[in-house]
Amino acid sequence: MLQTISAFDRIGEENAFAVLARANTLSGEGHDVVNLGIGQPDFLTPPHIVEAAVKALQDGHHGYTPATGLPATREAVARRTFSLTGVEISPDSVMIMPGGKPTMFAAILMFGEPGAEILYPDPGFPIYRSMIEFTGAKPVPVPIREENGFAFSAEETLSLITDKTRLLILNSPANPTGGVTPKQEIDKLVAGLENFPDVAILSDEIYDVMTYDGEVHTSLLTYPEIRDRLIVLNGWSKTWAMTGWRMGWSIWPEKLYGMVRKLAVNCWSCVNAPSQIAGIAAIDGPQEDVKRMMEAFDRRRKLVVERANALPGVTCATPKGAFYAFPNISQTGWKSKKLSSALLEKAHVALVGGPDFGILGEGYIRISYANSEMNIARAMDRVAKFLEETE
Ligand code: PLP
Repeated sequence: MLQTISAFDRIGEENAFAVLARANTLSGEGHDVVNLGIGQPDFLTPPHIVEAAVKALQDGHHGYTPATGLPATREAVARRTFSLTGVEISPDSVMIMPGGKPTMFAAILMFGEPGAEILYPDPGFPIYRSMIEFTGAKPVPVPIREENGFAFSAEETLSLITDKTRLLILNSPANPTGGVTPKQEIDKLVAGLENFPDVAILSDEIYDVMTYDGEVHTSLLTYPEIRDRLIVLNGWSKTWAMTGWRMGWSIWPEKLYGMVRKLAVNCWSCVNAPSQIAGIAAIDGPQEDVKRMMEAFDRRRKLVVERANALPGVTCATPKGAFYAFPNISQTGWKSKKLSSALLEKAHVALVGGPDFGILGEGYIRISYANSEMNIARAMDRVAKFLEETE
């Protein structure tokens, strides 16, 4: 009998991928499925970025790069960071990673072990908890509440820190709620963290420019007092519609940088060179496509909120960021997972149940509005019909 270590029994999943697989199976069987399940922009990567990758291949960029990433790509990240946040960072603090997830993995591996506690948002991106459990550390959910606009509460977050806490994971703008934590709350949180100098912070800012209604994202990088224990996760996947390119970056404090570099050497050597060169074109090139994409997301956001609020028993807060809505379905009489699976099987609308994002996700479903207005309207017609018929 093969004997694997028990840590692998504790690895979780991202159910959005299982929903996608089932939706594809149903489509393959001839059903007309509308997919509001997966968290990826439905747009193509802007053409100038694709052209940069093609040219890089033609120019012979076929080999390894430094494990930390090409200097030019790291410099581009430093330029973008400065132009967005006003904070000067050294390109030597930037790691180019194969997506946003490897940063999560590296940071959680660095601080997680049996006996340690790691705080993470609930509801939140499911991989945080999965990776914490993999390391044997205790996952401590930080409640993200609808009545708080799906923002972090500084007071509640700080109250959960113990002498075993090693890492605090923050995410704003957030998946799955679309919540954006206001600057005043982050100010309070950072002030409180001064009492806990041994707690590291992983700030997942992958949706940083995806905000609406003039909402502004506050980067944790703008707080110099925590820079020596702050890891910032970011990447190309969402902003430039590049999920399949596997391109992310992260910014690390000096004392952790050598460790993550070694992990990269051991695990993936480097991100492929053409993607890294395309990543420079994404940052430095025209941003009209990003703007157009955000305008489309904004129209869809308004449509989803309006249509969700018209559903029997459903209320839907207006998301302030990312491209997800998190309607409250607790008054429909349905449990979240039962409803999402019935909607997929019977109405052929793919959504993800709130509990796939944490304990506090019960009573909610996540709608990804990375789909056309026409498809969103069709999906909402079907959900309305389904809820009316099963009332
Ligand atoms: N962080 C959050 C909050 C996300 O929602 C996602 C993707 O859905 C990621 C990180 C991972 O991004 P990537 O596809 O670049 O690994």
